[in-house]
Amino acid sequence: MSARYVQPLRILIQFCFLAFMLWLGVRFYQFVHYVRGGGTAPFVPRPDGIEGFLPISGLLGTASWLKGNGINGIHPAAVVVFLTVLLVALLLRRSFCSWICPVAVVSECSWKAGFKLLRRNPRLPRRLDVSLRGVKYLLMAFFVWSIAVAMSPAALETFINSDYHKLADVRLLDFFLHLSPLALTVILSLLLLSLFLKNPFCRYLCPYGALLGLVAILSPVRVTRSSERCVSCGVCSQVCPTYIDVMHKKSVLSPECIGCWRCVSHCRFNQALSMRAAGRYAVPGIVFALLVVTLFWGGTLAGKIGGHWRTALDIGEYRRLLGP
Ligand code: SF4
Ligand code: SF4
Repeated sequence: MSARYVQPLRILIQFCFLAFMLWLGVRFYQFVHYVRGGGTAPFVPRPDGIEGFLPISGLLGTASWLKGNGINGIHPAAVVVFLTVLLVALLLRRSFCSWICPVAVVSECSWKAGFKLLRRNPRLPRRLDVSLRGVKYLLMAFFVWSIAVAMSPAALETFINSDYHKLADVRLLDFFLHLSPLALTVILSLLLLSLFLKNPFCRYLCPYGALLGLVAILSPVRVTRSSERCVSCGVCSQVCPTYIDVMHKKSVLSPECIGCWRCVSHCRFNQALSMRAAGRYAVPGIVFALLVVTLFWGGTLAGKIGGHWRTALDIGEYRRLLGP
């Protein structure tokens, strides 16, 4: 099998991260259960990595840090993960979306299942598709403006140290444990829609993906096509889950590219399509995969070594916040 065919490896990495994140969720549930039970259940330490599920807290903490407040001790891991994911996007495009994000794994499994059932994934009319894609940028602009621009350093500090923010992770857990009828309907509708359309949440609604896409425009790594070797078979454009017309591009600059390698993997003409750094140096699939994983883990490790990982909230504070 060609060294460019990295899809099994990518899917393996996606599922490893998904399993790890489920494990984090279970450990966090057990921790909250212990605190709420007044210590009657077995003690499980709070997994700090759970803060990776708090990108808004990461944005708040990053804005606060950039405005001179230092990295907060309430959810420091949220800041570390947020900055790490931005760094991954800066160097390796939106590879976080196609190699790590748990939402994208579920979404990808859904549209592939839908394809098996229907033999196709319909596409929205172009105008509607473009308009809906704008929604995620509007959401991103709203969050970036209202948090990173409009809030003063003092306001950020006050909010970060509020009881509301301290419990952001517990609120998220409770949200999923006790889904309201409305939330359940929205989630089920998105899941159902994901059977037909490719990645509707990521494509139209995710403000995190929108931000990563804009950062990724600066990435030196991109899919590059050789017009001399390309035979214009169109396979790359057909397999792209974000509908980029790869066959007619010299290199893919689009913020919609999630760095999934599907186009490179499926091109049967050697050297016609490759992932290249600075437009010149071919990046082998295995190297790209190693870089994604190493950068992500390395970033979180740097946060731990730098003392910005463990929350300053102790068990007594959690008892106060979660007590009757
Ligand atoms: S799959 Fe390869 S050969 Fe076919 S159009 Fe794309 S780059 Fe060209
Ligand atoms: S252009 Fe290639 S790497 Fe980018 S999203 Fe499309 S298939 Fe994936």
